[in-house]
Amino acid sequence: MRKPFIAGNWKMNTDRAGAVDLAGGLVGRLKDVETVDMAVCPPHVYLDAVAKALNSSNIALGAQNVYFEPKGAFTGEISCKMLKDVCCTYVIIGHSERRHKIGETDELINKKISAAITSGLLPIFCVGELLEQREAGKTAQVVTEQIKEGLAGLSAEKVLAVTIAYEPVWAIGTGVNATPDQAQDVHAMIRELLADMYDNSLAGQMRIQYGGSAKPANTAELMACPDVDGLLVGGASLKADDFATMIKTVA
Ligand code: PEP
Repeated sequence: MRKPFIAGNWKMNTDRAGAVDLAGGLVGRLKDVETVDMAVCPPHVYLDAVAKALNSSNIALGAQNVYFEPKGAFTGEISCKMLKDVCCTYVIIGHSERRHKIGETDELINKKISAAITSGLLPIFCVGELLEQREAGKTAQVVTEQIKEGLAGLSAEKVLAVTIAYEPVWAIGTGVNATPDQAQDVHAMIRELLADMYDNSLAGQMRIQYGGSAKPANTAELMACPDVDGLLVGGASLKADDFATMIKTVA
């Protein structure tokens, strides 16, 4: 039985006071939730403040990015150890905005995933196709390549630290979510791929989140899909009421 996992990706939003308020609002609303794993991923500069606001609650802290080198002359980058130092449990890696707006490659993403796991962080590894790739019937091919290259060289023991987030790029921030059938099809394909790459037991244990315009109104139908184990939520995670409603729907 896979425990549902809902994470909020705040992207480049909030300010210090807003981030602390949002975290505090979630702590109050969600203090009784035990059946769902929960995390928020604020901008790096507010991780420390949000860690304090979360105050060892049942809501974990995640970062939105990390660099794979342990330290040194990498101006502007943040190491895994630094994220651990400010109490991060999770780190989002390979988000489509980093792939397509910043230019991250599968090879870089693979190095980041590997370094994160070695440091004891739990990666939320994002994959997903562009609209033109879906329209060209290439969704399975694109997602398969992203997963094979992103997880290359990882042992079964290590890969169990990973949550995969299937996020069709055309659904992110657009208000148009994948239908439950579209999400289920890709999630089932991903699970079969994991069974091929590793084995059935491992594939059955790994959590696959859906992301892309998830909101209170579509949470129940998406989470009813047998292979959808959670949600990675952007816009709706910036409103404490909406994010808490989604989590309570799942709980
Ligand atoms: C995301 O940023 O991962 C995301 C899914 O965003 P949104 O929920 O706003 O589509």
